[in-house]
Amino acid sequence: MKRIRIIRYGLSFFLCFVFIFSLQAEEGMLPLSEIPRLDLKSLGFKIDANELYNPNGVSLIDGIINLRGCTASFVSPDGLILTNYHCAFRAVQTVTTKENDYMRDGFIARDRSQELPAKGYTVRVIEFYRDVSKDVLGVVKKEMTYAQRTRAIEKQIKKIEVNTEKMYPGRRAEVAEMFIGKTYVLFVYTYLKDVRLVYAPPRSIGEYGGEIDNWMWPRHTGDFAFMRAYSAPDGSFTDYSPNNVPYHPKKYLQAAPEGVKEEDLVFILGYPGRTARHRTSYFISFEEQVRMPCLVELYGWMINVLEKLSEKDRTVEIKLSPKLNGLWNSMKRSQGQLQGLKNLELAKKRKEKENALQAFIQADPQRQAKYGRVLERIAELFNEKRKDAEYDFILGYLLRSSTMLGNAYKVVEASIERKKKDTERESAYMNRNFDRTLKRIEINLGNYCEEADKILFKELLMRAAKPKGDKPQRIPAVDNIILKDSVKGNHAAKEKAIDAFINSAYTPSRLNDKDFLMGLFEKPNKEIKMIKDPFIQLAVALYPTYQEQKEKQKRQKGILDELMSQLINVKKEFMGIEFIPDANGTLRLTYGRIRGYSPADAVYYRPFTTLAGVIQKNTGKHPFNAPKKLIHLYETTKPGLFAHPELKDVPVAMLYNTDTTGGSSGSPVLNANGRLVGLNFDRVFEGTINDYAWDEAYSRSIGVDIRYILWFLDKFGGARHLLKEMNVQ
Ligand code: ASP
Repeated sequence: MKRIRIIRYGLSFFLCFVFIFSLQAEEGMLPLSEIPRLDLKSLGFKIDANELYNPNGVSLIDGIINLRGCTASFVSPDGLILTNYHCAFRAVQTVTTKENDYMRDGFIARDRSQELPAKGYTVRVIEFYRDVSKDVLGVVKKEMTYAQRTRAIEKQIKKIEVNTEKMYPGRRAEVAEMFIGKTYVLFVYTYLKDVRLVYAPPRSIGEYGGEIDNWMWPRHTGDFAFMRAYSAPDGSFTDYSPNNVPYHPKKYLQAAPEGVKEEDLVFILGYPGRTARHRTSYFISFEEQVRMPCLVELYGWMINVLEKLSEKDRTVEIKLSPKLNGLWNSMKRSQGQLQGLKNLELAKKRKEKENALQAFIQADPQRQAKYGRVLERIAELFNEKRKDAEYDFILGYLLRSSTMLGNAYKVVEASIERKKKDTERESAYMNRNFDRTLKRIEINLGNYCEEADKILFKELLMRAAKPKGDKPQRIPAVDNIILKDSVKGNHAAKEKAIDAFINSAYTPSRLNDKDFLMGLFEKPNKEIKMIKDPFIQLAVALYPTYQEQKEKQKRQKGILDELMSQLINVKKEFMGIEFIPDANGTLRLTYGRIRGYSPADAVYYRPFTTLAGVIQKNTGKHPFNAPKKLIHLYETTKPGLFAHPELKDVPVAMLYNTDTTGGSSGSPVLNANGRLVGLNFDRVFEGTINDYAWDEAYSRSIGVDIRYILWFLDKFGGARHLLKEMNVQ
């Protein structure tokens, strides 16, 4: 039951149309430009719009961080960062060994000298933004093919980013597509590259409940960790150096140890990743019938294999843990979404709306001439995508299945891309990104596990060797492997040929040698092609196939850009209202209330869990294996300062009806005064469908209650120095 009151408003460049919400409804990840339009007082805020967002001064948004795809916030004047455990997990994992098992035991830096570099992590804080739609779309010419159109837009975006970074040295510029094919905004960020791990609880706290509880309520996960941003002594932002000093942010958030209670207003500032609320029924049906079932099947298979390997050896378990976490997280989310799409009959409902829109278009000859075929052409595009779906899916995963093949392909691609003009390269190989690309490759190589690589690679090769789609779409480079033994068509013989290839490929290859691999990234294509490494040879053979696929995707994007832009225009005419753009990894505001929900008949979930619940769930076995110390503390100490006054216990997690998605993880949950009361980390199972359609009935996000974090630091973690630094005594 959605209660949205719609008012007409003037145009803002972020919006095509604006929804304005009544007090009860909280749909909407609002871009910054919308904040001044809100009547914050009547919504229950006790701060004014300037305190939230002030382009000419300091405001809360200066304390909000984009942390490697997650959100985080500054919580001290010395650059202390609070985010989720699962967002800091890679940092914990990269410094974990069998001997120093920080994943099992947790990590604590007792002073700054003990803080460990969080390799690959960066911090972005927004400085300003500007509409660049005209600049971007100005390069489109009528005579261009669709693929040329996409390339021209991409190149122009890169130019804007490069030129902006020249004007603001040390800053990071990113152009975001707000409405598909229609509006583009340039964001300029402060960009810090020396980030360190400060504190992480044991995994049995940070992931308490594991995958059984993931995407679920009631929840008892202590999903929090602390990091710190550093800058050079002269204030510039450099990579890690022991001489660097803690960064002093313009703004940091103040924790509110008193927390919140049911029905209190809360709001979130963060970087939600992607939603699909403006997408058509054709997109939704594609997701429901094609993409997500493929993903669930493949990921389920991969999880099975990797979990078995992990059981055998702790070092392997440590190496495979980030991959397994990611696979589980995506698979379960897709399962929730598939269930939601079915229960809500969302594709059907969206089609009904499109039918009404089509009737509106046809009622007027001018509109008919302009928009008459928009929906039909979108349908045609998705039909084309369906035909190639399995082929595209396998091709995409083939490179990801094997670190060895993936890295070989990057070497080949780099040798071609790096020769082009900077703004004509694929983004990963541009000068502004290349160092990071290499660093990422190096970090991932640290998790290389040959046994896992072989099993996944073999499976994907087997799948790639099958005929696909309506007409068999063959991958010539894969056919070469199986044709060598003239075994095309016979499963057992194919497997034999693939086994033979795999057995002969891994031993001679040196691509798992970091120095050797990094050296290859400097070599020209001519030399790369001569290298006798089996993976390099396969990557060279695969390259044309991937180029063809890329070209097709650019053509499809060009078509979709044009059609989606027209669709938004005619929807505006039809509905007479304005919309908020789908989430796209840019900073947004969402607000709501601490509130329970009813997931099923006769069931009502209250909005707080407590420490008593952690103990109730504890079985002593993963994933419900709370540390003994926690159980002892629960049994022997009073909750004290951090207790919820009515529950008389430390609240662990909380529920609220804000509008969040992937990427909102680690976002601060703030009270009406703009003080920190929690840390967003997840949604309920029914709420996973939120990415496609928000509803007050089921859209609930989950956060760690700040009182649990503070209690934990104080009693369990021996981290009073952090409480002091956060000005909580
Ligand atoms: N768990 C998600 C994340 O990792 C948050 C969400 O999707 O609600 O970003």
